[in-house]
Amino acid sequence: MNKNEYELKVGLEIHQQLASSTKLFCKCNGFDKLEDEIYFKRVLRPTQSELGKTDPAALFESKKSKQMNYIANTNTSCLVEADEEPPHEISEEALDIALTISYLLNAEPVDEIHVMRKLVIDGSNTTGFQRTVIISTGGELQVDNLKIPVLSISLEEDASRIINKNKEQSTYSLDRLSIPLIEITLAPVKFKKEETEKIALTLGRLMRTTGKVARGIGTIRQDVNISIDGENIIEVKGVQQLDMLTNIIEFENHRQINLLKIKKTLIERGLEKNNFSANSIDISNIFTNTDSKLLKQTLINKGRIVAIIAPKFKKLIGQEEYEGTRLGRDISSLVKFFGYGGIFHSDELPNYGITIDEINKIKNKLKNDHDDAFIILAGDNENIDNAIKSIQNRLFQSIIGIPAETRTPTEDGKTDFMRPRPGSARMYPETDIIPVKITDGKRKIIKKSLPKTYEEQISNYKNNIGLNDKLSVQIFDSKYKILFENLIQQIHLPANFIAAQLTETLINLSRNNIDVSKITDEELEKIFKEIEKGEIAKESFEKIIEDICKNENNIDNIINEMKTNKLSEEDVENIILEIIDMKKQIIKQKGIDSFSMLMGETMKQLRGKIDGKIISNKIKELLEKEINKN
Ligand SMILES: [Zn+2]
Repeated sequence: MNKNEYELKVGLEIHQQLASSTKLFCKCNGFDKLEDEIYFKRVLRPTQSELGKTDPAALFESKKSKQMNYIANTNTSCLVEADEEPPHEISEEALDIALTISYLLNAEPVDEIHVMRKLVIDGSNTTGFQRTVIISTGGELQVDNLKIPVLSISLEEDASRIINKNKEQSTYSLDRLSIPLIEITLAPVKFKKEETEKIALTLGRLMRTTGKVARGIGTIRQDVNISIDGENIIEVKGVQQLDMLTNIIEFENHRQINLLKIKKTLIERGLEKNNFSANSIDISNIFTNTDSKLLKQTLINKGRIVAIIAPKFKKLIGQEEYEGTRLGRDISSLVKFFGYGGIFHSDELPNYGITIDEINKIKNKLKNDHDDAFIILAGDNENIDNAIKSIQNRLFQSIIGIPAETRTPTEDGKTDFMRPRPGSARMYPETDIIPVKITDGKRKIIKKSLPKTYEEQISNYKNNIGLNDKLSVQIFDSKYKILFENLIQQIHLPANFIAAQLTETLINLSRNNIDVSKITDEELEKIFKEIEKGEIAKESFEKIIEDICKNENNIDNIINEMKTNKLSEEDVENIILEIIDMKKQIIKQKGIDSFSMLMGETMKQLRGKIDGKIISNKIKELLEKEINKN
């Protein structure tokens, strides 16, 4: 079967943090510096009624009861995040930004906003739910000649930041909890390789025109809904890098095609929903003298080894035409959810110390037919029944088609099972917050003050401010867009210089493992002002940032020290004269051509202390004098 016979549809859902000065339901600023840590613990266990019957994700996750630890920071969170105080009214600033973006996409805001609760039971919300509000529906995103329909635009709370996670407990930091996120859901469209990244990039830039969205790692996340031939939708959650989108979509396409091929073969082999059975049998006693280290260790630890029959699955569990798409890999990641290391399946055996003899014993015990396969699961008793059940379900789903799942992206552009896709019963009203009308007055004000488009802003950078092409795009995409626009209003330094420092210099420093996120807008402004006044050299920008971020030096101390050590014109002249004296012979031979040699020698002593332009002028002047003397 040719893969082109399948129609691949892709829908993007973009989650972008807003750079508003407060969180969505309290006055904390989640971007503030982290100080004064306090800790508290919770055990989250949702009640049966909250979970409902139609919510496989919640039921699945509730099987793992866990302790949650939270790190709270008085700067970035309060009692609201700790769920010890009711939420305040919704942030008007965040609402205005969401309305602005709605109008930019020609979406129609709702009359009245109603805060809803969405069940979240992995501990990332202290409340056990995430608050979410639909702001508008409809609209479209224009990408070149393509119009992609917008399904909905919502505001929601960001989740806590995971610090670490193991079988018994998870630790989260509350600084990120409840930072406003705008969620834009685009309609699924037919996948074209060159389009998807462009769509995401265009939408990202449209949001950035407002100057009110956060930038940096983790501030924007893409969820991708992928389906083929009208089968169930697979949701890949949290793609952070745009350049991974295409890889992930292509991987999912192949994985899903593989699943449809398995289904077809199973049906051809006569497997039906009604005659399906995947019994499990304890096979521990087959392995009492095994060479398999893993199985031996399981028995030493008093664990169990079980085999699950996979009827008519021979060669299908290991089947893969595209790297990583085999069903065996999916079943492995399924049992990892319950804390097991993985599985062995008959398509890959004998191997891993498991012998032909042992395989035959298993086949006999399972009464395997010619077309049958089996899966071995080994580990402690605690969750083994749940893990077996999930394998049996997964095998059963193979005759139905592609199971609806939420998957997580891997670093190499594949996807892993995360959990079943939530049912529709996950939302219920937030009773602590009263609905808010979006008045005609507000609509008018926002419509009147819409930002200029991306193209208009770039052209303004180039034609009115004098930025070059590269820096125009870089500064627009950077987190310093607004700071830059403020600085060029008040500081008379070349725009290209300011933009280059805020983009290229800072990027270089962070490539050298310097945490430039520590630097504040106020500090940056101060440095540029001192440079403007001529108090410190242009070249010292990089050195000051490094000093602040690496040594945690205070900016005023650094600048004062530079001023005190600042060389007078006379000092500079003396240094250059000394060098000229030392290089007299060369100057006699080369004349004016010895300039670059002198420049190099002088810069060795004065780099970062004096503006290079001043030095070069001075050298020219003194060199000419020296030559004329001769
Ligand atoms: Zn707060």
